[in-house]
Amino acid sequence: MRAEIISVGTELLLGEIIDTNAAFLSQELAALGIELYHRTTVGDNEQRLKQALIEALARADLVVTSGGLGPTADDLTKETVAAVLGLPLVLDRPSLLWIKEYFARMNKEMTVNNQKQAMIPAGGEALPNANGTAPGVLICKGEKVVVCLPGPPRELIPMFRSYVLPYLRTKSRGVIHSRVLRLCGVGESELVEEIADLLTDQTNPTLAPLASEGELRLRITARAQSEREAEALIGELEAKLRARLGHWIYGTDDDTLEAVVVKLLRTRGETLAVAESCTGGLLANRITDVPGASAVLERGLVTYSNRAKEELLQVPAAVIVAHGAVSGEVARYMAEGVRMSAGTDWGIGITGIAGPGGGSREKPVGLVYYALVGPGVNLVQKVHWSGDRVKIKRRTTQAVLDLLRRTLLATEA
Ligand code: AMP
Ligand code: MG
Repeated sequence: MRAEIISVGTELLLGEIIDTNAAFLSQELAALGIELYHRTTVGDNEQRLKQALIEALARADLVVTSGGLGPTADDLTKETVAAVLGLPLVLDRPSLLWIKEYFARMNKEMTVNNQKQAMIPAGGEALPNANGTAPGVLICKGEKVVVCLPGPPRELIPMFRSYVLPYLRTKSRGVIHSRVLRLCGVGESELVEEIADLLTDQTNPTLAPLASEGELRLRITARAQSEREAEALIGELEAKLRARLGHWIYGTDDDTLEAVVVKLLRTRGETLAVAESCTGGLLANRITDVPGASAVLERGLVTYSNRAKEELLQVPAAVIVAHGAVSGEVARYMAEGVRMSAGTDWGIGITGIAGPGGGSREKPVGLVYYALVGPGVNLVQKVHWSGDRVKIKRRTTQAVLDLLRRTLLATEA
């Protein structure tokens, strides 16, 4: 089965809203093993919508539209679909009743244009809207299926799940499943080199590398007749990848590095305190994004000035004068200072130059030192990032979390 999505709404073309419905529908169709080669966005314009529908129906068996089911004059999806399919619009009594009840419940007057929402192309099946007034509609004509869904995601998503998904399950053969492996501490070119053979040889499952924000992802996608078969195909390739790349893989699917680190510390019953300069609290922020972080993070200090480093972390003024605030020595004092005052197992110190100003030849923008101290551990690392402040901050926290993760894995609790 081949599908297309048409998103209707001038506000989409103006960039005022993001087409999250198309992303949602694409994912759902992919999970069903339904092929999707085109997605179209059109404004609230009858002529152009008509054109888009004709083109989509020429290429695909299934066309799903989003938006334009409302009561106002610019909502014309059903009218246009009916015209393209050569069907008259007829009143759907259950929908009209539903709309009337909806207005009664809301204590609002129902206007004439609200009745328009109960009109559907003849022969279509009205799809009840649990969260609004406009029903959706599913129309089969010959070999073609057209599904019209309302624009608001809180209406479209439940309607799709309740009525469209069960219908499509009966129609489609096969499934597509994917799993994402998340990697840290390796560059894209190094990774691609390591698995060059797998990247070219694989057709099912396919393998795709994606780079973002100091980490890499490898998406494995399998097509099969059943969920079990797809999972088996994924498992086979995943095992090969883990054998080669295991030391870089920190998690799968929706795992985050911070969640993995919090979990490691929790299972060990250990605590952490962090002292941040150039990352401005981003590390603590990321850690506190994880539910249950309070069992692990004792405190996070943002010690931006030299005075704060001296007063709150007992970094000796002489060390700052001798080595500069951005130095391995200061990073280590910060980590030890915060660990000491917090009484935690682990301490982290971060100091660097996020730019764009403040760099020099010896200490360029992007230079960052970070230190990790803990039971039998005393590490200082120096990195030099490129990019703007936000990137430098993000990459630093990523590297620090990965160092902590690796250290925890390498040491006994
Ligand atoms: P409509 O039914 O086209 O008038 O859309 C009603 C509202 O639903 C819009 O104002 C948006 O807030 C939302 N909406 C419409 N289309 C989309 C879409 N493709 N993705 C996300 N939200 C949408
Ligand atoms: Mg609209």
